[in-house]
Amino acid sequence: MPVHRVLNVFSRKARQLIKQAIVQHHRRSGVVLFSDTTLRDGEQMPGATLDPDDKLRIAKMLEEVGVHSLDAGFPASSQADVQAIRKMIGVIKKPVLTALCRTVPSDIDAADEALDGLPDHKRGVSLFCGTSPLHREYKLRKSKSETLKLIVEAIRYAAERFEIVAFAPEDSTRTELPYLCQIAREAIEAGATTLGFPDTIGRMTPEKTRDFFRYIQDHVPKIDKVLIAVHFHNDLGLAVANTLAAIQEGANVVQCTVNGIGERGGNAALEEVAMMHEDQYGPVSRIDTTKLVPLCRLVSELTGIPLPPNKAVSGTNMFATEAGIHQDGLLKNPDTYLCYRPEKVGAEGIRLVLGRHSGRRAVAHRLQELGITMTDEQVLEVLNAIKQVPKGTVIDDDVLRQLAEDVKAASA
Ligand code: MN
Repeated sequence: MPVHRVLNVFSRKARQLIKQAIVQHHRRSGVVLFSDTTLRDGEQMPGATLDPDDKLRIAKMLEEVGVHSLDAGFPASSQADVQAIRKMIGVIKKPVLTALCRTVPSDIDAADEALDGLPDHKRGVSLFCGTSPLHREYKLRKSKSETLKLIVEAIRYAAERFEIVAFAPEDSTRTELPYLCQIAREAIEAGATTLGFPDTIGRMTPEKTRDFFRYIQDHVPKIDKVLIAVHFHNDLGLAVANTLAAIQEGANVVQCTVNGIGERGGNAALEEVAMMHEDQYGPVSRIDTTKLVPLCRLVSELTGIPLPPNKAVSGTNMFATEAGIHQDGLLKNPDTYLCYRPEKVGAEGIRLVLGRHSGRRAVAHRLQELGITMTDEQVLEVLNAIKQVPKGTVIDDDVLRQLAEDVKAASA
C-alpha cells in the first residue's frame, strides 16, 4: 500500500472551505450532474463483462457526452477494475473518476492506489455500507450503533486521503428514516461531500421518493452542505420516474447506466433521464444529447446486450413507423408523431417502414426516392400488392422495386 499521500499544502480548515465552495458552486448552478455507473453497476449485469479496453472506449464516449463523474470500478474487489482505472488515468480528463469501497480502510487504500496520478478534484471514493435492518442483521451482523461507528470511521479515514468522499447507505430506502437521518448527519460531520441514496432493490415509486427526500431535507440540518446523489433500480420499471421525482426534491447528482443495464431489472437509463430533462425541463444538465444514440450503440455492442427495438431513445423503432396515418403525418411534419427529432439524439433519421399497415403516401414517397415514376393508380396497385405479401415479409427496396416493375408490366 502506498504511504498515505498528503492532500496538498492547505490546512485541514482551508481544505474544508475549498470543499464547501465546490459543493456550493454545484448546488447554486442548479445543474443536474450525471454520474455514470455503466462500468461498475452496469457491468454487474450477468453476461455484460467488459474488458479494460472496452471500458476505456466507453469512458471516452461518456466524457464526450458530458457526464460529471464515472463510477469507474471497485479496486478492492477486482484487479481488472484496477487495470481499467489505470488505463483511464491521463486519458479521461473532464469527469471525476470515483472508485467504489466498502467502509474498510483497505478498500480506501486500494482506491487511493488505483486513482493515483489524478488531481485531487478529479478523484473520489464512493463508500457504501448496508444500513437497513436486513443488511445490518444478515450481512453485517452489527447493531445500529456499531454500523454507524463503522461508517463514521471509514468516512474520516477517506477524508484524510480524498477531497471527494461520497457515502451511500446501501438499501437506504428500507432503512428506518430517523436512523438514516442520524447516519446522514454524522456522515456530513465526518467529512462526506456527497450523500448517495441507493434504492438498492428498486422498490420505490415517484410519490414515495418525494416523501423520502422531503423527510431527509427536513431532518438533516446540514444537508445543504453536501451534494445529494440518487441511484435507482428498475425492478418496478420506475427507476427513471423515481430519478425525476428525486430531482424535483433537490437531488443534485443522478446515477445512471447507459441503456439502463445493471443487476436484475437494471438501473435508471442515462439516455432516458437526459432526454426527459431536455424535452420537459430545458437543458438543465450538461449532457450533449446528440451523442446519446452512438453511446447507447457502443455499450450494446461491447457488452453484447442487444437494444430492444422499442427501447426509449435508442431503439431502432424510435423513428420508424409502419402505420399509414403516422407515415402521412411524419411526411407532412415530423413533429406530428415524434416526441423529439432524430437529430436531437444522434439517430439517423425517420424511417418509414413499408408493410401491411402502410398508406399510399409513404409508398409514393419511397418510390420517388428510388427514382421510380408511377401514376397514382399504379402506386395504389403497389400498395395493394404490399398488403398481400405473406405476414412477416420485410418490404425492402428490392422487393418494392420488383412490385413496381410487376405493376408496370401488368398495366403495359
Ligand atoms: Mn446498484
